Amino acid sequence: MISSPKISVVGFGYVGLTTAVCFASRGLYVRGFDVDSAKVSGINNGVVPFHEPQVSELLKDSLKAGFAASSDKIELGDLTFMTVGTPSAGDGSIDLSYIKSASEMIGKALKNSRGYHLIIVKSTVVPGTTEGVVKPIIESFSGKKVGDGFGLAVNPEFLREGSAVKDMFEPDRLVIGEYDRRSGDVLESFYKVFYKDKIPSLLRTNLVNAEFIKYANNAFLATKISFANTIANIAQRVPGADVTVIAKGIGLDNRIGSRFLNAGLGFGGSCFPKDVRGLVAFSKQSGYDPILLNDSNEVNNRQPLVALHLASTILGTLKGKRIAILGLSFKPDTDDIREAVSLPIIKKLLEEGASVVAYDPAAMENTSKVFGNQIEYAKTALDALKDADCCIIVTEWEEFRLLRPEDFKSTMKNSVIIDGRRIFDPRVFDAKVSKFEAVGLG
Ligand code: NAD
Repeated sequence: MISSPKISVVGFGYVGLTTAVCFASRGLYVRGFDVDSAKVSGINNGVVPFHEPQVSELLKDSLKAGFAASSDKIELGDLTFMTVGTPSAGDGSIDLSYIKSASEMIGKALKNSRGYHLIIVKSTVVPGTTEGVVKPIIESFSGKKVGDGFGLAVNPEFLREGSAVKDMFEPDRLVIGEYDRRSGDVLESFYKVFYKDKIPSLLRTNLVNAEFIKYANNAFLATKISFANTIANIAQRVPGADVTVIAKGIGLDNRIGSRFLNAGLGFGGSCFPKDVRGLVAFSKQSGYDPILLNDSNEVNNRQPLVALHLASTILGTLKGKRIAILGLSFKPDTDDIREAVSLPIIKKLLEEGASVVAYDPAAMENTSKVFGNQIEYAKTALDALKDADCCIIVTEWEEFRLLRPEDFKSTMKNSVIIDGRRIFDPRVFDAKVSKFEAVGLG
């Protein structure tokens, strides 16, 4: 292994830019490429195109250390990480067009490069994609054969938006799918040098298993959330039952574990919904109907409507009511609203004739691109609550946890709070607010 390998990153989304600055800020030579020239020019000027803790500071350090991005051409590294997007296509399967175009560009860059280059697919792709799609395109445009001139690996990314930098520096585990032994050896020795004595558990396997692990991982976590919501929806109908206590009880079982059992409005974001749908579509194409995963998604799709049903039952009707939405991003500490639960909630509220006032510490700009002036945007959480008939807590931002019962009581018209993320203690709020409701609480 080269002592100080050159790194290249292709695609500067949440994953690509975080990967690049984590490596570059530790002194590695990193170059990157994205087709979006405005994004690239911003990055080269220190502007991070999304909200993610620590990335801005690391980008500044990286630029000082010589990191640079380009939208003109790909400079291949000894290791080139492919981190382009793999969005959902209309039928739920994944859209491989960015993977194909990036493979073509990498193939062309490889044609004129000397020496050995390892190409690593970090994007989430369905099993078989690296061997069946990426490999033939790179071979065709480079005129080289994998194993002879370049190596190929799959290294799925498990970082979570909101804690992406921490997850990059301290991952639970690394999964390396290798086309051949040399590809796996190069990537493993790179990570051994990078993580030194903090190297996490590392699993080496073939390409297809590595691709599969990422999907199985997300499908399991999504299903665990939908399971918790199913129990919550049953508990809602049972006098005296409280899903928080039930979840705590089952979470104490080591075989189950306490994480991802929080009942609420369900999951959103750029990964879980897309990846579950992607695995369902892939499975159906392979001839198996994965009923369990279909239902995980279905439970999740219905969950936001539970909040609205609760609101309309309490208020009598949603028509003409002023509803405050606290939280728009799909989770705290990000501005990402891809498949955020806030979107179907706001859409339905508008359809029902309610007026919506929203507040989020980071995701207002992205949300305004979707709803424009159909909704109001408040400057603070308290401003959003002013004269509202009902407030729905959609995202569990830390600053919302600091709100006290008095804040709702003194500003809202009716103190009806639907706590979609269970951030408030019902014992405290029930006593001080006239009507407090938490979604999923029995
Ligand atoms: P993103 O949509 O935020 O960014 C993708 C980037 O790729 C964009 O900047 C786009 O301009 C660029 N791109 C498209 N075609 C290109 C090409 N031919 N050459 C160079 N750049 C190109 O994506 P993301 O959220 O960072 O996700 C990237 C991949 O990682 C996806 O497969 C995703 O499923 C996976 N993933 C994402 C997360 C997450 O939390 N966002 C976590 C784990 C895995």
